[in-house]
Amino acid sequence: MNCHICNKTTETFIHEKTNITYYHCKECEYIFKSPECYQDFDAQKERYNLHTNDENDEGYIAYFQRFIDFTYPYISSCKSALDFGCGTSSILSEMFEKKGISCDFYDPIYHPDGMDEYKKYDLIVSTEVFEHLHQPREVFKSLLDRLEKGGYLALQTQFHTNEHETFKKWYYHQDPTHIVFFTAETFKVLSQIYSCEFVSDNGKNMVLIRKP
Ligand SMILES: [Zn+2]
Repeated sequence: MNCHICNKTTETFIHEKTNITYYHCKECEYIFKSPECYQDFDAQKERYNLHTNDENDEGYIAYFQRFIDFTYPYISSCKSALDFGCGTSSILSEMFEKKGISCDFYDPIYHPDGMDEYKKYDLIVSTEVFEHLHQPREVFKSLLDRLEKGGYLALQTQFHTNEHETFKKWYYHQDPTHIVFFTAETFKVLSQIYSCEFVSDNGKNMVLIRKP
């Protein structure tokens, strides 16, 4: 199996407990579950509906504040933003609005009408979305197409350690809707592929990329 990000050959490993096969690219550090584990839209929808929103607004605000703290030094002059894959909540977009950045929010399940097809944005944010994507490279490209020149793409997804044994013990891939896994390196390679500037990462779960 070749890497779905950079097309190089991958290394295979199997999780003994679940029998799931993973493909690991040593070039861009992308790890993906065997595609037969990918669920269709309805199965995913059912799973998301099980997520009880047990966090109150305050919990979400503290959670998203870390994301805003990471991005805001770079994006303070942005005027328009899109929260892509916001889930049920519009809290992050409300937090950007409070900072004077007008923010649309879109989710294929919960807010399917939230995105203006023809609008371009200064900033697109997407938190805890990329680990669910069957085709992250294609989605990355489509988000870049929706950015203004010089616009920013800020993403949050948990980075793996790039090592098989610690990966197997990691909680993050146990959610059946989490199918693909990244490090900052994966996003550096994606940025190179689409001639973008990789601006920053926090070493843990956030990256910021700028469209030229
Ligand atoms: Zn790769």
